[in-house]
Amino acid sequence: MLKNPKYIYGPSDRLIPANINFGEFMLKKINENNDKIALINGSTHEQQTYHQLQQEAINLAVSLTHLGVKKGDVIAISSENRREFWSTLIGSSCTGAIVTTINVGYTNDELKHVMSISKPKYIFCSPFAYKTHMKIYKTLSHLKQIFIFGDESPSNTILYKDLAIANNDKTNNVKRYKITRNVTFEEFQVVDVEGQNDVVLILYSSGTTGLPKGVMLTHLNVITLCSPSFVLPPLKPLNITPWYHSMGLLSTLANFCKGVTSVYLPKFEVELYLKTIERYEISQLAVVPAMLIALCKSNLKYDTSSVQIIFCGAAPLYEETAEAVKQRFPSAQAILQGYGMTETTLAISVNFNPDKIGSVGSVISHTVAKVVNPETREPLGPNEKGEICVKSIMGMKGYVGKDRRDDFDDEGFIKTGDIGYYDEEGYLYIVDRLKELIKYKAYQVPPAEIEAVLLKNPDIRDAGVIGIPHPTAGEVPLAFVVLQPGKTLTEKDVQDFVAERLSNPKHLRGGVKFINEIPKTQTGKILRKDLRKMFKSAKSKL
Ligand code: AMP
Repeated sequence: MLKNPKYIYGPSDRLIPANINFGEFMLKKINENNDKIALINGSTHEQQTYHQLQQEAINLAVSLTHLGVKKGDVIAISSENRREFWSTLIGSSCTGAIVTTINVGYTNDELKHVMSISKPKYIFCSPFAYKTHMKIYKTLSHLKQIFIFGDESPSNTILYKDLAIANNDKTNNVKRYKITRNVTFEEFQVVDVEGQNDVVLILYSSGTTGLPKGVMLTHLNVITLCSPSFVLPPLKPLNITPWYHSMGLLSTLANFCKGVTSVYLPKFEVELYLKTIERYEISQLAVVPAMLIALCKSNLKYDTSSVQIIFCGAAPLYEETAEAVKQRFPSAQAILQGYGMTETTLAISVNFNPDKIGSVGSVISHTVAKVVNPETREPLGPNEKGEICVKSIMGMKGYVGKDRRDDFDDEGFIKTGDIGYYDEEGYLYIVDRLKELIKYKAYQVPPAEIEAVLLKNPDIRDAGVIGIPHPTAGEVPLAFVVLQPGKTLTEKDVQDFVAERLSNPKHLRGGVKFINEIPKTQTGKILRKDLRKMFKSAKSKL
Protein backbone atom coordinates (compact mmCIF):
# COMPACT_ATOMS: atom_id res chain seq x y z
CA MET A 1 0.00 0.00 0.00
CA LEU A 2 1.16 3.52 -0.74
CA LYS A 3 1.49 6.16 1.93
CA ASN A 4 -1.13 8.90 1.67
CA PRO A 5 0.75 12.12 0.72
CA LYS A 6 -1.66 14.13 2.85
CA TYR A 7 -0.96 12.14 6.03
CA ILE A 8 2.04 12.73 8.29
CA TYR A 9 3.78 9.58 9.48
CA GLY A 10 6.04 9.04 12.48
CA PRO A 11 8.88 6.52 12.19
CA SER A 12 8.12 2.79 12.60
CA ASP A 13 11.36 2.08 14.37
CA ARG A 14 10.58 -0.07 17.37
CA LEU A 15 9.57 -3.60 18.18
CA ILE A 16 6.90 -3.47 20.84
CA PRO A 17 5.93 -6.69 22.63
CA ALA A 18 2.22 -7.03 21.83
CA ASN A 19 1.15 -9.72 24.24
CA ILE A 20 2.77 -9.26 27.57
CA ASN A 21 1.26 -7.96 30.74
CA PHE A 22 2.23 -4.34 31.40
CA GLY A 23 3.03 -5.31 35.01
CA GLU A 24 5.53 -7.92 33.81
CA PHE A 25 7.09 -5.42 31.39
CA MET A 26 7.55 -2.97 34.28
CA LEU A 27 8.96 -5.55 36.70
CA LYS A 28 11.55 -6.61 34.12
CA LYS A 29 12.60 -3.03 33.45
CA ILE A 30 12.74 -2.30 37.17
CA ASN A 31 14.85 -5.42 37.68
CA GLU A 32 17.60 -3.90 35.51
CA ASN A 33 18.03 -1.09 38.05
CA ASN A 34 17.71 -2.96 41.32
CA ASP A 35 19.70 -0.86 43.81
CA LYS A 36 19.22 2.49 42.16
CA ILE A 37 16.86 5.02 43.71
CA ALA A 38 13.60 5.12 41.81
CA LEU A 39 11.75 7.84 43.68
CA ILE A 40 12.55 10.69 46.03
CA ASN A 41 9.90 12.76 47.77
CA GLY A 42 11.43 16.23 47.39
CA SER A 43 9.44 17.47 50.35
CA THR A 44 10.18 14.76 52.99
CA HIS A 45 13.32 13.37 51.26
CA GLU A 46 11.96 9.83 51.68
CA GLN A 47 13.54 7.51 49.09
CA GLN A 48 12.49 4.27 47.46
CA THR A 49 14.83 2.00 45.48
CA TYR A 50 13.81 0.13 42.35
CA HIS A 51 14.19 -3.08 44.34
CA GLN A 52 11.73 -1.90 47.02
CA LEU A 53 9.28 -0.84 44.33
CA GLN A 54 9.55 -4.21 42.62
CA GLN A 55 9.24 -6.19 45.87
CA GLU A 56 6.20 -4.28 47.08
CA ALA A 57 4.51 -4.63 43.69
CA ILE A 58 5.11 -8.41 43.63
CA ASN A 59 3.96 -8.92 47.24
CA LEU A 60 0.89 -6.84 46.60
CA ALA A 61 0.01 -8.83 43.47
CA VAL A 62 0.32 -12.10 45.41
CA SER A 63 -1.84 -10.80 48.29
CA LEU A 64 -4.50 -9.44 45.96
CA THR A 65 -4.71 -12.76 44.16
CA HIS A 66 -5.15 -14.50 47.56
CA LEU A 67 -7.94 -12.07 48.31
CA GLY A 68 -9.70 -13.11 45.10
CA VAL A 69 -8.75 -10.34 42.66
CA LYS A 70 -9.18 -11.64 39.11
CA LYS A 71 -8.35 -10.55 35.58
CA GLY A 72 -10.70 -7.74 34.52
CA ASP A 73 -11.59 -6.62 38.08
CA VAL A 74 -11.31 -2.86 38.47
CA ILE A 75 -9.08 -1.46 41.23
CA ALA A 76 -9.24 2.27 41.99
CA ILE A 77 -6.41 4.34 43.45
CA SER A 78 -7.29 7.64 45.08
CA SER A 79 -4.31 9.36 46.62
CA GLU A 80 -2.08 12.38 46.58
CA ASN A 81 1.37 11.67 45.08
CA ARG A 82 2.92 9.23 47.58
CA ARG A 83 5.21 6.20 47.29
CA GLU A 84 2.63 3.41 47.69
CA PHE A 85 0.94 4.61 44.49
CA TRP A 86 3.35 2.91 42.05
CA SER A 87 3.67 -0.50 43.68
CA THR A 88 -0.13 -0.56 43.89
CA LEU A 89 -0.52 0.29 40.23
CA ILE A 90 2.14 -2.12 38.98
CA GLY A 91 1.18 -4.93 41.39
CA SER A 92 -2.51 -4.62 40.49
CA SER A 93 -1.79 -4.83 36.77
CA CYS A 94 0.24 -8.03 37.35
CA THR A 95 -3.02 -9.65 38.55
CA GLY A 96 -4.70 -8.78 35.24
CA ALA A 97 -6.84 -6.18 37.02
CA ILE A 98 -7.68 -2.80 35.49
CA VAL A 99 -6.49 0.24 37.43
CA THR A 100 -8.43 3.50 37.54
CA THR A 101 -6.96 6.61 39.14
CA ILE A 102 -9.26 8.98 41.01
CA ASN A 103 -8.66 12.67 41.73
CA VAL A 104 -8.64 13.20 45.53
CA GLY A 105 -10.02 16.68 44.95
CA TYR A 106 -13.29 15.47 43.45
CA THR A 107 -16.53 16.61 45.04
CA ASN A 108 -18.99 13.87 46.00
CA ASP A 109 -20.96 14.24 42.76
CA GLU A 110 -17.84 14.11 40.60
CA LEU A 111 -16.66 11.02 42.46
CA LYS A 112 -20.04 9.30 42.03
CA HIS A 113 -19.93 10.06 38.31
CA VAL A 114 -16.53 8.48 37.64
CA MET A 115 -17.26 5.55 39.95
CA SER A 116 -20.43 4.86 37.96
CA ILE A 117 -18.25 4.53 34.84
CA SER A 118 -15.49 2.22 36.07
CA LYS A 119 -17.38 0.50 38.95
CA PRO A 120 -14.29 -0.56 40.91
CA LYS A 121 -14.51 -3.58 43.21
CA TYR A 122 -11.52 -2.45 45.27
CA ILE A 123 -10.08 0.90 46.19
CA PHE A 124 -6.67 1.88 47.55
CA CYS A 125 -6.75 5.30 49.15
CA SER A 126 -4.61 7.66 51.16
CA PRO A 127 -5.88 8.59 54.65
CA PHE A 128 -6.84 12.00 53.23
CA ALA A 129 -8.84 10.51 50.35
CA TYR A 130 -10.55 8.11 52.77
CA LYS A 131 -11.54 10.93 55.12
CA THR A 132 -12.82 13.04 52.23
CA HIS A 133 -14.76 10.37 50.34
CA MET A 134 -15.53 7.58 52.82
CA LYS A 135 -19.25 8.44 52.98
CA ILE A 136 -19.56 7.94 49.22
CA TYR A 137 -17.47 4.76 49.20
CA LYS A 138 -19.94 3.25 51.66
CA THR A 139 -22.87 3.85 49.32
CA LEU A 140 -21.28 2.08 46.32
CA SER A 141 -22.59 -1.48 46.05
CA HIS A 142 -19.85 -2.55 43.59
CA LEU A 143 -17.08 -1.62 46.06
CA LYS A 144 -16.11 -4.75 48.02
CA GLN A 145 -12.96 -3.72 49.90
CA ILE A 146 -11.10 -0.57 50.90
CA PHE A 147 -7.31 -0.63 51.34
CA ILE A 148 -5.51 2.20 53.10
CA PHE A 149 -2.02 3.65 52.64
CA GLY A 150 -0.09 4.64 55.78
CA ASP A 151 -0.24 3.09 59.26
CA GLU A 152 -3.79 3.30 60.56
CA SER A 153 -6.69 1.24 59.29
CA PRO A 154 -10.23 2.33 60.15
CA SER A 155 -12.72 -0.53 60.71
CA ASN A 156 -13.38 -2.82 57.73
CA THR A 157 -10.34 -1.55 55.84
CA ILE A 158 -7.04 -3.33 55.16
CA LEU A 159 -3.63 -1.70 55.38
CA TYR A 160 -1.60 -1.53 52.19
CA LYS A 161 1.54 -2.41 54.12
CA ASP A 162 0.02 -5.68 55.34
CA LEU A 163 -0.37 -6.70 51.69
CA ALA A 164 2.92 -5.40 50.33
CA ILE A 165 5.53 -5.39 53.10
CA ALA A 166 6.64 -8.71 54.64
CA ASN A 167 6.56 -8.64 58.45
CA ASN A 168 7.88 -12.09 59.41
CA ASP A 169 4.99 -12.59 61.82
CA LYS A 170 4.87 -16.34 62.46
CA THR A 171 2.07 -16.36 65.06
CA ASN A 172 -1.16 -18.20 64.41
CA ASN A 173 -3.32 -15.14 64.48
CA VAL A 174 -1.79 -13.63 61.33
CA LYS A 175 -4.60 -12.24 59.20
CA ARG A 176 -4.93 -14.24 56.00
CA TYR A 177 -3.95 -11.34 53.79
CA LYS A 178 -0.79 -10.42 55.74
CA ILE A 179 2.44 -10.99 53.83
CA THR A 180 4.93 -12.91 56.01
CA ARG A 181 7.72 -13.35 53.46
CA ASN A 182 8.89 -11.64 50.31
CA VAL A 183 7.99 -13.43 47.08
CA THR A 184 10.99 -13.21 44.74
CA PHE A 185 10.99 -11.93 41.19
CA GLU A 186 12.11 -15.39 39.99
CA GLU A 187 9.25 -17.16 41.79
CA PHE A 188 6.60 -14.77 40.60
CA GLN A 189 4.29 -15.24 37.61
CA VAL A 190 1.93 -12.56 36.30
CA VAL A 191 -1.53 -13.24 34.86
CA ASP A 192 -1.48 -13.59 31.05
CA VAL A 193 -3.18 -10.94 28.97
CA GLU A 194 -3.83 -10.14 25.33
CA GLY A 195 -1.90 -6.89 25.18
CA GLN A 196 -3.80 -5.40 22.26
CA ASN A 197 -7.23 -6.09 23.74
CA ASP A 198 -7.04 -6.25 27.49
CA VAL A 199 -7.41 -2.96 29.32
CA VAL A 200 -4.97 -1.99 32.07
CA LEU A 201 -5.95 1.62 32.79
CA ILE A 202 -9.16 3.60 32.86
CA LEU A 203 -8.49 7.35 32.97
CA TYR A 204 -11.08 10.11 32.70
CA SER A 205 -11.47 12.65 29.92
CA SER A 206 -14.46 14.48 28.52
CA GLY A 207 -13.28 13.90 24.92
CA THR A 208 -14.89 16.19 22.38
CA THR A 209 -18.22 16.70 24.18
CA GLY A 210 -20.24 16.06 27.33
CA LEU A 211 -19.31 14.77 30.78
CA PRO A 212 -16.08 12.92 31.70
CA LYS A 213 -15.82 9.45 30.17
CA GLY A 214 -13.60 6.46 30.96
CA VAL A 215 -10.69 6.19 28.52
CA MET A 216 -9.66 2.52 28.19
CA LEU A 217 -5.93 2.04 27.63
CA THR A 218 -4.62 -1.43 26.85
CA HIS A 219 -1.44 -3.12 28.09
CA LEU A 220 0.04 -2.53 24.62
CA ASN A 221 -0.82 1.19 24.68
CA VAL A 222 1.02 1.74 27.95
CA ILE A 223 3.97 -0.55 27.17
CA THR A 224 4.54 1.42 23.97
CA LEU A 225 4.73 4.72 25.81
CA CYS A 226 7.07 3.17 28.37
CA SER A 227 9.43 1.65 25.80
CA PRO A 228 12.73 3.33 26.70
CA SER A 229 13.59 6.65 25.12
CA PHE A 230 10.30 6.63 23.30
CA VAL A 231 9.86 10.33 23.78
CA LEU A 232 12.38 11.94 26.10
CA PRO A 233 16.03 11.21 26.98
CA PRO A 234 16.95 9.61 30.35
CA LEU A 235 17.59 12.61 32.60
CA LYS A 236 16.78 13.24 36.28
CA PRO A 237 13.19 14.52 36.23
CA LEU A 238 11.25 16.60 38.71
CA ASN A 239 7.68 15.43 38.63
CA ILE A 240 4.94 17.66 39.88
CA THR A 241 1.75 16.97 37.96
CA PRO A 242 -0.74 14.83 39.91
CA TRP A 243 -0.38 11.13 39.26
CA TYR A 244 -4.08 10.51 38.74
CA HIS A 245 -3.82 12.60 35.54
CA SER A 246 -2.42 11.05 32.36
CA MET A 247 0.57 13.41 32.21
CA GLY A 248 1.91 12.69 35.72
CA LEU A 249 0.92 9.04 35.60
CA LEU A 250 2.32 7.99 32.24
CA SER A 251 5.44 10.15 32.30
CA THR A 252 6.47 8.72 35.70
CA LEU A 253 5.97 5.15 34.46
CA ALA A 254 8.07 5.96 31.38
CA ASN A 255 10.79 7.39 33.67
CA PHE A 256 10.91 4.16 35.71
CA CYS A 257 11.57 2.28 32.48
CA LYS A 258 14.54 4.52 31.76
CA GLY A 259 16.01 3.67 35.17
CA VAL A 260 16.29 7.32 36.24
CA THR A 261 15.67 8.72 39.72
CA SER A 262 12.43 10.68 39.68
CA VAL A 263 12.00 13.41 42.25
CA TYR A 264 8.42 14.36 43.03
CA LEU A 265 6.58 16.94 45.09
CA PRO A 266 3.11 16.54 46.53
CA LYS A 267 2.02 19.88 45.08
CA PHE A 268 3.38 22.80 43.08
CA GLU A 269 4.79 25.63 45.14
CA VAL A 270 7.35 27.91 43.47
CA GLU A 271 9.96 28.16 46.23
CA LEU A 272 9.95 24.46 47.12
CA TYR A 273 10.13 23.64 43.42
CA LEU A 274 13.22 25.82 42.86
CA LYS A 275 14.82 24.58 46.09
CA THR A 276 14.27 20.98 44.95
CA ILE A 277 15.93 21.65 41.58
CA GLU A 278 18.97 23.00 43.45
CA ARG A 279 19.13 20.27 46.11
CA TYR A 280 18.71 17.30 43.77
CA GLU A 281 20.44 18.79 40.71
CA ILE A 282 17.41 18.14 38.57
CA SER A 283 18.15 17.95 34.85
CA GLN A 284 14.67 17.63 33.34
CA LEU A 285 11.53 19.58 34.21
CA ALA A 286 8.17 18.18 33.11
CA VAL A 287 5.70 21.01 33.45
CA VAL A 288 2.52 22.58 32.15
CA PRO A 289 2.52 26.20 30.86
CA ALA A 290 0.87 27.64 34.01
CA MET A 291 3.79 26.39 36.13
CA LEU A 292 6.35 27.91 33.77
CA ILE A 293 4.55 31.25 33.97
CA ALA A 294 4.63 31.14 37.78
CA LEU A 295 8.34 30.20 37.79
CA CYS A 296 9.21 33.02 35.37
CA LYS A 297 7.38 35.59 37.48
CA SER A 298 9.30 34.71 40.63
CA ASN A 299 12.55 36.51 41.54
CA LEU A 300 13.66 33.87 44.03
CA LYS A 301 17.31 32.97 43.52
CA TYR A 302 18.26 29.27 43.49
CA ASP A 303 20.91 27.42 41.53
CA THR A 304 19.05 25.84 38.62
CA SER A 305 22.10 25.36 36.40
CA SER A 306 21.56 21.57 36.37
CA VAL A 307 18.41 21.93 34.20
CA GLN A 308 19.09 20.65 30.69
CA ILE A 309 15.65 20.04 29.25
CA ILE A 310 12.25 21.52 29.95
CA PHE A 311 9.33 19.52 28.68
CA CYS A 312 6.03 21.36 28.52
CA GLY A 313 2.74 19.75 27.58
CA ALA A 314 -1.02 19.51 28.19
CA ALA A 315 -1.87 23.05 27.02
CA PRO A 316 -0.54 25.67 24.56
CA LEU A 317 2.88 27.15 25.30
CA TYR A 318 3.06 30.65 23.91
CA GLU A 319 6.19 32.17 22.37
CA GLU A 320 6.49 34.91 25.03
CA THR A 321 6.43 32.29 27.78
CA ALA A 322 9.04 30.19 25.97
CA GLU A 323 11.27 33.30 25.68
CA ALA A 324 10.86 34.13 29.39
CA VAL A 325 11.71 30.51 30.26
CA LYS A 326 14.99 30.78 28.34
CA GLN A 327 15.97 33.75 30.53
CA ARG A 328 14.85 32.02 33.74
CA PHE A 329 16.67 28.74 32.97
CA PRO A 330 19.65 29.77 30.80
CA SER A 331 21.28 26.32 31.20
CA ALA A 332 18.36 24.58 29.46
CA GLN A 333 19.44 23.38 26.03
CA ALA A 334 15.87 22.86 24.89
CA ILE A 335 12.29 23.69 25.77
CA LEU A 336 10.35 20.87 24.22
CA GLN A 337 6.69 21.28 23.55
CA GLY A 338 4.62 18.11 23.47
CA TYR A 339 1.09 17.54 22.24
CA GLY A 340 -1.06 14.64 23.22
CA MET A 341 -4.18 13.58 25.01
CA THR A 342 -5.32 10.96 27.49
CA GLU A 343 -7.00 9.14 24.58
CA THR A 344 -3.59 8.65 22.84
CA THR A 345 -1.78 7.49 25.99
CA LEU A 346 -0.43 11.03 26.29
CA ALA A 347 1.76 11.28 23.21
CA ILE A 348 1.12 12.46 19.65
CA SER A 349 4.00 14.78 18.80
CA VAL A 350 7.05 16.45 20.33
CA ASN A 351 9.01 19.41 19.04
CA PHE A 352 12.76 18.80 19.21
CA ASN A 353 13.51 21.52 16.65
CA PRO A 354 14.34 24.98 18.14
CA ASP A 355 13.79 26.57 14.71
CA LYS A 356 10.11 25.61 14.75
CA ILE A 357 8.90 27.92 17.49
CA GLY A 358 5.18 27.59 18.15
CA SER A 359 4.95 24.09 16.68
CA VAL A 360 4.03 21.05 18.75
CA GLY A 361 6.49 19.08 16.63
CA SER A 362 6.44 16.11 14.34
CA VAL A 363 4.48 12.96 15.11
CA ILE A 364 6.26 10.34 17.20
CA SER A 365 6.97 6.69 16.35
CA HIS A 366 4.11 4.43 15.29
CA THR A 367 1.73 7.39 14.89
CA VAL A 368 -0.01 8.79 11.81
CA ALA A 369 -1.84 12.11 11.77
CA LYS A 370 -4.04 13.85 9.26
CA VAL A 371 -5.83 17.19 9.22
CA VAL A 372 -9.36 17.01 7.83
CA ASN A 373 -12.05 19.45 6.83
CA PRO A 374 -14.45 19.17 9.80
CA GLU A 375 -17.53 19.18 7.51
CA THR A 376 -16.49 17.00 4.55
CA ARG A 377 -13.87 14.91 6.47
CA GLU A 378 -11.58 15.25 3.41
CA PRO A 379 -7.84 15.28 4.29
CA LEU A 380 -6.17 18.66 3.83
CA GLY A 381 -2.69 19.56 2.57
CA PRO A 382 0.10 21.57 4.26
CA ASN A 383 -0.87 24.87 5.93
CA GLU A 384 -4.62 24.18 5.65
CA LYS A 385 -6.47 24.33 8.96
CA GLY A 386 -8.81 21.56 10.04
CA GLU A 387 -9.43 18.92 12.69
CA ILE A 388 -6.36 16.88 13.68
CA CYS A 389 -7.06 13.12 13.62
CA VAL A 390 -4.62 10.53 14.90
CA LYS A 391 -4.07 6.79 14.49
CA SER A 392 -1.48 5.26 16.73
CA ILE A 393 -0.36 2.11 18.49
CA MET A 394 -1.09 4.20 21.60
CA GLY A 395 -4.66 5.08 20.55
CA MET A 396 -7.20 4.10 23.24
CA LYS A 397 -9.43 1.08 22.87
CA GLY A 398 -12.43 3.40 23.30
CA TYR A 399 -14.50 4.92 26.10
CA VAL A 400 -16.16 2.60 28.64
CA GLY A 401 -19.64 1.70 27.41
CA LYS A 402 -19.51 3.97 24.36
CA ASP A 403 -19.63 3.05 20.67
CA ARG A 404 -16.27 3.60 18.94
CA ARG A 405 -17.98 5.09 15.88
CA ASP A 406 -18.62 8.42 17.66
CA ASP A 407 -14.96 9.07 18.40
CA PHE A 408 -13.02 7.27 15.63
CA ASP A 409 -13.46 7.88 11.90
CA ASP A 410 -13.94 5.19 9.23
CA GLU A 411 -10.18 4.63 8.97
CA GLY A 412 -9.79 4.21 12.74
CA PHE A 413 -8.32 7.68 13.39
CA ILE A 414 -9.25 9.30 16.73
CA LYS A 415 -10.99 12.65 16.23
CA THR A 416 -8.97 14.89 18.57
CA GLY A 417 -11.34 17.86 18.46
CA ASP A 418 -8.27 20.10 18.07
CA ILE A 419 -7.93 22.49 15.14
CA GLY A 420 -4.50 22.79 13.58
CA TYR A 421 -2.35 22.38 10.50
CA TYR A 422 1.01 20.95 9.44
CA ASP A 423 3.70 22.73 7.45
CA GLU A 424 5.64 21.43 4.41
CA GLU A 425 8.06 19.62 6.72
CA GLY A 426 5.29 17.86 8.61
CA TYR A 427 5.45 19.96 11.80
CA LEU A 428 2.10 20.27 13.56
CA TYR A 429 0.62 23.52 14.88
CA ILE A 430 -2.44 23.76 17.15
CA VAL A 431 -4.55 26.88 16.58
CA ASP A 432 -7.91 26.29 18.21
CA ARG A 433 -10.27 23.73 19.66
CA LEU A 434 -13.32 22.36 17.94
CA LYS A 435 -14.31 20.44 21.05
CA GLU A 436 -16.03 22.00 24.00
CA LEU A 437 -13.24 21.32 26.47
CA ILE A 438 -11.88 24.17 28.61
CA LYS A 439 -8.34 23.75 29.95
CA TYR A 440 -7.76 25.51 33.26
CA LYS A 441 -4.00 25.14 33.79
CA ALA A 442 -3.68 21.52 32.60
CA TYR A 443 -6.98 20.40 34.11
CA GLN A 444 -9.90 19.38 31.97
CA VAL A 445 -13.02 21.44 32.60
CA PRO A 446 -15.98 20.07 30.62
CA PRO A 447 -18.51 22.92 30.19
CA ALA A 448 -21.39 20.40 30.10
CA GLU A 449 -20.56 19.43 33.69
CA ILE A 450 -20.83 23.04 34.93
CA GLU A 451 -24.03 23.57 32.91
CA ALA A 452 -25.60 20.46 34.50
CA VAL A 453 -24.83 21.86 37.96
CA LEU A 454 -26.19 25.32 37.10
CA LEU A 455 -29.45 23.77 35.91
CA LYS A 456 -29.92 22.22 39.36
CA ASN A 457 -30.44 25.72 40.76
CA PRO A 458 -34.22 26.29 40.80
CA ASP A 459 -33.75 29.99 39.99
CA ILE A 460 -31.80 29.25 36.79
CA ARG A 461 -33.78 28.46 33.64
CA ASP A 462 -30.89 27.83 31.25
CA ALA A 463 -27.10 28.08 31.12
CA GLY A 464 -24.16 27.88 28.72
CA VAL A 465 -20.47 27.81 29.66
CA ILE A 466 -17.38 28.75 27.63
CA GLY A 467 -13.67 29.13 28.35
CA ILE A 468 -12.16 32.60 28.13
CA PRO A 469 -8.44 33.37 27.84
CA HIS A 470 -6.53 33.98 31.07
CA PRO A 471 -2.91 35.23 31.26
CA THR A 472 -1.59 32.63 33.73
CA ALA A 473 -4.14 29.79 33.78
CA GLY A 474 -4.61 29.54 30.00
CA GLU A 475 -8.41 29.51 30.17
CA VAL A 476 -11.06 29.99 32.86
CA PRO A 477 -14.77 29.08 32.69
CA LEU A 478 -17.42 31.79 32.26
CA ALA A 479 -21.16 31.08 32.52
CA PHE A 480 -24.02 32.68 30.60
CA VAL A 481 -27.13 32.30 32.72
CA VAL A 482 -30.85 32.80 32.02
CA LEU A 483 -32.84 33.35 35.22
CA GLN A 484 -36.37 32.07 35.87
CA PRO A 485 -38.95 34.87 35.47
CA GLY A 486 -39.11 37.08 38.56
CA LYS A 487 -35.96 35.59 40.15
CA THR A 488 -32.79 37.47 41.03
CA LEU A 489 -29.32 36.06 41.62
CA THR A 490 -26.01 37.90 41.79
CA GLU A 491 -22.83 36.81 40.02
CA LYS A 492 -21.47 35.73 43.41
CA ASP A 493 -24.57 33.63 44.17
CA VAL A 494 -24.01 31.69 40.96
CA GLN A 495 -20.25 31.34 41.50
CA ASP A 496 -20.82 30.08 45.07
CA PHE A 497 -23.46 27.62 43.88
CA VAL A 498 -20.94 26.05 41.49
CA ALA A 499 -18.04 26.22 43.97
CA GLU A 500 -20.08 24.22 46.51
CA ARG A 501 -20.66 21.41 44.01
CA LEU A 502 -17.63 21.13 41.72
CA SER A 503 -13.89 20.86 42.32
CA ASN A 504 -11.58 23.86 42.18
CA PRO A 505 -10.62 23.99 38.44
CA LYS A 506 -14.34 24.10 37.52
CA HIS A 507 -15.15 27.21 39.61
CA LEU A 508 -16.49 30.14 37.56
CA ARG A 509 -13.32 32.26 37.66
CA GLY A 510 -14.29 33.88 34.34
CA GLY A 511 -17.48 35.31 35.91
CA VAL A 512 -21.20 35.11 35.13
CA LYS A 513 -23.18 36.99 32.46
CA PHE A 514 -26.97 37.19 32.74
CA ILE A 515 -28.74 37.03 29.36
CA ASN A 516 -32.29 36.42 28.05
CA GLU A 517 -31.70 33.33 25.91
CA ILE A 518 -28.93 30.78 25.34
CA PRO A 519 -28.30 30.54 21.57
CA LYS A 520 -28.96 26.96 20.39
CA THR A 521 -29.15 24.93 17.18
CA GLN A 522 -32.51 23.58 16.02
CA THR A 523 -31.64 20.32 17.71
CA GLY A 524 -31.04 22.08 21.02
CA LYS A 525 -27.21 22.08 21.06
CA ILE A 526 -25.66 25.13 22.69
CA LEU A 527 -24.00 27.39 20.10
CA ARG A 528 -20.81 28.02 22.04
CA LYS A 529 -19.26 29.96 19.17
CA ASP A 530 -22.12 32.47 19.46
CA LEU A 531 -21.52 32.71 23.21
CA ARG A 532 -17.82 33.34 22.47
CA LYS A 533 -18.81 36.12 20.03
CA MET A 534 -21.08 37.66 22.69
CA PHE A 535 -18.20 37.62 25.16
CA LYS A 536 -15.80 39.19 22.65
CA SER A 537 -18.20 41.95 21.61
CA ALA A 538 -19.06 42.77 25.26
CA LYS A 539 -15.31 42.99 25.97
CA SER A 540 -14.56 45.21 22.98
CA LYS A 541 -17.26 47.68 24.10
CA LEU A 542 -15.45 48.21 27.41
P1 AMP B 1 -5.75 15.77 28.28
O1 AMP B 1 -6.40 14.53 27.80
O2 AMP B 1 -6.28 16.26 29.59
O3 AMP B 1 -4.26 15.69 28.28
O4 AMP B 1 -6.15 16.92 27.23
C1 AMP B 1 -5.83 16.80 25.87
C2 AMP B 1 -6.05 18.11 25.17
O5 AMP B 1 -5.19 19.12 25.71
C3 AMP B 1 -5.70 18.08 23.70
O6 AMP B 1 -6.70 17.48 22.90
C4 AMP B 1 -5.52 19.58 23.42
O7 AMP B 1 -6.77 20.23 23.29
C5 AMP B 1 -4.84 20.06 24.69
N1 AMP B 1 -3.38 20.08 24.52
C6 AMP B 1 -2.51 19.15 24.92
N2 AMP B 1 -1.25 19.50 24.60
C7 AMP B 1 -1.33 20.70 23.96
C8 AMP B 1 -0.37 21.59 23.39
N3 AMP B 1 0.92 21.36 23.43
N4 AMP B 1 -0.85 22.71 22.81
C9 AMP B 1 -2.17 22.98 22.77
N5 AMP B 1 -3.12 22.20 23.31
C10 AMP B 1 -2.70 21.06 23.90
